[in-house]
Amino acid sequence: MKTDELREKYLSFFETKGHTRVASDVLVPTWDPSVLFTPAGMNQFKDHFLGKVKLDFTRATTCQKCMRTGDIDNVGRTPRHHTFFEMLGNFSFGDYFKDEAIHWAWEFLTDKKWLGLPPETLSVTVYKDDQQAADIWHEKIGVPTSRISYEEEDENFWPASAPSQGPDGVCGPCSEIYYTAPGREALEIWNLVFTQFNRVGDPPDNLRPLPSKNIDTGMGLERTAAALQDVETNFHIDILMPIVQAAAEVCGVKYEYHSENGRRLRRITDHVRACTFAVHENVYPGANKEKYVVKRLLRRAVLDGHQIGLRDPFLCKIVPTVVEMMAGTYPELKETTERVAGVIEKEEANFFATIDGGLNRIEQSFDEMRKENRTTVDGHVAADLYQTFGVPPELFESLAAEHNLAFDWDGYEQAMLEHGEASGKLTHTVMGSKGPIDSLKQVHHKTDFLGYDVTEASATVLGIIAGKAPNDHLCDKMEEIGHEDPVRIVLDKTPFYGESGGQVGDVGKLMGAGFEFDVIDTQKDGELFVHIGHLKSGVMSEGDTVQAAVDTGRRDAIRRAHSATHLLHHALRKHLGDHAQQQGSKVEADWLRFDFTNLSPVTPEQLAAITEDVTSDVATAAEVKWETLPLAEARKQGAMMLFGEKYPDPVRMVSMGPLSAGTNSRELCGGTHLTNTKQVGAFEIISEEGVSAGTRRIVALTGQRAEQQVVETTTALDKTAKLLSCAASQVPEAVTALLAEQRSLKKLLSSGGAASDEPGPKLSSPTDQLSYQQAKITLTEAGRLLSVAPLAVPERVESLLSEVESMKRQLAERDAAGPLSADKLLESATKIGATTVVVAETPGAPQNLMRQLIDQLRAKEDSVAVLLAAREGDEKVTLIAGISKDLQQAKVSAGKWIGPVAKTLGGGGGGRPDMAQAGGKQPEKLPEALEVALKTIKEMIDA
Ligand code: ATP
Ligand code: MG
Repeated sequence: MKTDELREKYLSFFETKGHTRVASDVLVPTWDPSVLFTPAGMNQFKDHFLGKVKLDFTRATTCQKCMRTGDIDNVGRTPRHHTFFEMLGNFSFGDYFKDEAIHWAWEFLTDKKWLGLPPETLSVTVYKDDQQAADIWHEKIGVPTSRISYEEEDENFWPASAPSQGPDGVCGPCSEIYYTAPGREALEIWNLVFTQFNRVGDPPDNLRPLPSKNIDTGMGLERTAAALQDVETNFHIDILMPIVQAAAEVCGVKYEYHSENGRRLRRITDHVRACTFAVHENVYPGANKEKYVVKRLLRRAVLDGHQIGLRDPFLCKIVPTVVEMMAGTYPELKETTERVAGVIEKEEANFFATIDGGLNRIEQSFDEMRKENRTTVDGHVAADLYQTFGVPPELFESLAAEHNLAFDWDGYEQAMLEHGEASGKLTHTVMGSKGPIDSLKQVHHKTDFLGYDVTEASATVLGIIAGKAPNDHLCDKMEEIGHEDPVRIVLDKTPFYGESGGQVGDVGKLMGAGFEFDVIDTQKDGELFVHIGHLKSGVMSEGDTVQAAVDTGRRDAIRRAHSATHLLHHALRKHLGDHAQQQGSKVEADWLRFDFTNLSPVTPEQLAAITEDVTSDVATAAEVKWETLPLAEARKQGAMMLFGEKYPDPVRMVSMGPLSAGTNSRELCGGTHLTNTKQVGAFEIISEEGVSAGTRRIVALTGQRAEQQVVETTTALDKTAKLLSCAASQVPEAVTALLAEQRSLKKLLSSGGAASDEPGPKLSSPTDQLSYQQAKITLTEAGRLLSVAPLAVPERVESLLSEVESMKRQLAERDAAGPLSADKLLESATKIGATTVVVAETPGAPQNLMRQLIDQLRAKEDSVAVLLAAREGDEKVTLIAGISKDLQQAKVSAGKWIGPVAKTLGGGGGGRPDMAQAGGKQPEKLPEALEVALKTIKEMIDA
């Protein structure tokens, strides 16, 4: 039986048993922070099992795309493990239980109409205390006791070892079904989980029967196909063997099951298939989380190729075969084949470029280990090499093995965790039902959302939750006093939009008889809407009727930003290509952030063209409509669908058009929108930047905020042009010249050389008329030169100009005072006893020159005390003091001398007895400070 046929048979068998066929969830469920990848079929039903969502059905069946990176080391070594695989499953949410689950599993496996496996090839396991399951298998099904084995809680309980080790919450025994072909090892193909307990605390008596019991089963598609097709490993089934063969061909070797290259080709097959699915869902190889897993998988596969002898990208060439084999079930893969292959090729090329350098580093570390007589590669060293040079730990490990050295994976994982780069070993996730929201969900299931049609409505308070988790609790009644932390209100229906799909939650008021509640945010928890805020006055009780009123000014601004986001997405795809897909977005009041796929930065010219397109779409005054329709119909109408996104069916489709180019924007979206594009008003992109490899981010404004931005940009450019006395279009040129002038003045000042009168480049100064887009590009360029945001350009230019001015003044002062010398300073010296005292300003002297002068004076005079001061601009004074040896012996100290002088200048400092340096911030007090200097040294010498 072909694999595609098996998949279909399973789903239709359970349909005949009253199950609803549900689509696979995505491989990377962003909605579920507890896992990186979907590890099992049950993952998408977690809330169903807990009764947190309103159930449209109580029986479901799926074929789920799964990924288990915890099995990575088994791949290629055991016949039965993959990282990416498909899991068939049937689920009961408080409906049927053990008896039916076991009967149907047996019927499907053995009945000739379905799989028709000979009963004697099957054996089962049960949990040691689950006599009920054993009895069903033996007495009702007729499995001989010799083929029923009893297992411990670490093998046959879900979660593993839950009874003794926890966690608390829903759990239950399992029963596994094994298939044994003649002459082969027994193969686990199916696991039936009977969730029948709530674990509370430690044993004994900690397993309480659940009132509503669930069934969760998982059958490995590839393993079962291998049994049916009578092949020795999953990799030899009809949908995988062609990929293995394609890999062999690309690598130029013959595939043999039992050779080292055979294992390598199977790993390559597995990893390239896993990466194809992940990249298809827009998870690119990267530094963290899922992205890091993809990177590691890719690198392991490249390494296998490297060891086979390849030196150029090859995995990308296998992608088309993967797509061909999987497209029957996942036709959407065909739409991204090129992009996926491109991303994989790039990462492969990067890695090939580092492998050889990595090899050298690794050899070095082996040398060190040999010297120190160590036999295990330190995981921290490996993590360091990975992070500094990109040396992959896999390469390290396999080379270490060749030298008979061990590799400390635990240390490596630990070090990576410390760096925040977990590879994420994945197991089933834990479910628990706790907290006041969860208990509300059990009773009420959902809040009706009215906000597409109205912004004000009357509603009933279902729950009031006060306090912070884990001490939060439901209260029947609340008074305005005593609640500093925000309180959460759940209503039966609401016009408030709960944050989702990137759009922020609404704010507003809930008003009732004698009370008023300020809503500062609205969030969704499952299908309940939670209004977060403060009771301003009166008493609010559960069951009260409230008038819920959204702040419509803010809501309108959000609608503008959201509709503009769709227009932006549309324009991006037109200008950059269809790959410019949404990766994430955030929509706030007249502000939006949009992340999308694109390998290189979007040029200022492209940004200008994109802005112009959106602006014309706004000017077109196109109608904005939304409707709810079947997913298939939306797809037919060309709705933009994101891979890696699981859509409900039916879906809500938001359409705008026809737009300026005659095309329409159609997106599946739950957000609140305008009714006509012209309501967007103005649209302005304020930044474009990279967020991660292959992902760019645009931030834009709408409505008044955008208008304001236009005015500010124009004003800023005009102001800058005036400051620089040049035409607006010449601003970047003038900024470059100004920066050059600043650099050369700085150099002059610190070298003590003379000022040159070389004039800067003269720019013609007539004004010119730039279009707004040109003005913006010009200002952005100036900002880039100055490393500041475009709107901060005038301020930065102003401060640069004044810096240049003051440096020029300083140089002029220095030149006017004539050259500085020790002899000249001696002319103004005074005598205190036998000591020559020089206290003087040395205008424009750099610090090294001041020190030189002090040294020269100490060489010339037997007993001398010198304190020199130099201003730097209008804000700073540098003081340096030095004294001769005899004074030091007389306990005079330069460090102590300089202190009160610096203090007079509003500064501080100090130093050694022979030489000290200090700074001050009030140059205008310099004459006074010099008097303090004279007085202080006199006192010190006289003392
Ligand atoms: P094993 O002990 O063989 O790793 P498991 O106990 O981890 O299997 P379950 O978590 O019970 O497996 O998953 C349910 C079914 O999914 C298994 O019976 C098997 O058929 C399939 N399966 C699990 N892990 C993998 C994998 N890495 N590759 C392919 N199929 C798998
Ligand atoms: Mg396993």
